[in-house]
Amino acid sequence: MGISGGKDSAALAIYLNDKYPTLNFEYYFCDTGKELDETYQLIENLESYLGKKIIKLENEELKNSNENPFDYYYKSFRGYLPSPQARWCTALMKLKPFEKFVNGEPTISYVGIRGDEEREGYISRESNIQSIFPFRRNIWSNDVLSKFFDPENQKQVEDFLNSYHKGNKYDRFVNLLNEPIDFNLNNKAETEKLLKRKISNSLDLGIPEFNRTVFDFLKTTEYPLATEIDFELLDNEDVLIREDIFRTLRESGIGVPKYYEKIEFEVDGEKGEYARSRSGCFFCFFQQKIEWIWLYEQHPELYKEAMKYENEDELFTWVPNESLAELIKPERVKQIKKGHIQRSNREKSKSSPYLLDILEGTERDGCNTCFL
Ligand code: SF4
Repeated sequence: MGISGGKDSAALAIYLNDKYPTLNFEYYFCDTGKELDETYQLIENLESYLGKKIIKLENEELKNSNENPFDYYYKSFRGYLPSPQARWCTALMKLKPFEKFVNGEPTISYVGIRGDEEREGYISRESNIQSIFPFRRNIWSNDVLSKFFDPENQKQVEDFLNSYHKGNKYDRFVNLLNEPIDFNLNNKAETEKLLKRKISNSLDLGIPEFNRTVFDFLKTTEYPLATEIDFELLDNEDVLIREDIFRTLRESGIGVPKYYEKIEFEVDGEKGEYARSRSGCFFCFFQQKIEWIWLYEQHPELYKEAMKYENEDELFTWVPNESLAELIKPERVKQIKKGHIQRSNREKSKSSPYLLDILEGTERDGCNTCFL
């Protein structure tokens, strides 16, 4: 189980540890050397709570270096900053050490995507790594369910289904299997939509029944779970959403990292709130401009450190087309804060009331190895 330092992976560790004490989890953390203090504190608190070490993963090449991971790679890239288009940071500091750590062994990777989130999240492309999503109604990854619902496997699936559904429910499930779906379609969005509907309708007929049918089917594949006799999460019907995450953290005594807490600000008589929406590097390029302002005002020393990475000719900047020096000019700060107030008011009226949802925006998908 990867512990990013964020709230969701921490809550997942607590939840699974408490609910399934016999499952023997291994926890890991990939330190970039550029996390906020709250992240290191959270890792420490979790270690005490779980009574286990959270293994810090590091690449071989760093063993003989005095540099922290980010600076080591930053220098080897000659000052080329990572960005959403060139995410060498995640590839080198998170995925590479994890894949080296599991070293080809069959591995179940538990991922803390919540039940109120509409996304698939990171899935390792390595065939020995299988992702499981315990907070969602559907614990399986799309690659598994694409095989399960592949018309080529229908006969086999129907045989397994027979052990869990009878009569009307069995017939309804078979009808679902019969609904056409083509995984070779060029229209990926349409296939995903059909798959999503099939998954949701199948789960409506019974979550444990669906999970057990998928589990039996997995035994015909090379997925890591194929070698297990049973899997404790098959009967789990819990769905955990944002409130549950905060409650789990608070009730465990571990608490919510302070940077998630909203802080009020005022600009030209208007009141607004800001916070940081994510764990990960304090200078992460996925953060929104208002989060950069939060960093500048709440951790000015870290902001200054982030500025140092932007070279003098500002060829590489953290925020596209704008340097951190420009971002903190008083007029610009005011403009960003006002824009954030307006956006928050708009979003609150039409969708989520949570500031964190507004801050996370759509960019969270970019790095759930860092932010979960
Ligand atoms: S937190 Fe951001 S900068 Fe740090 S490794 Fe993840 S994507 Fe890269």
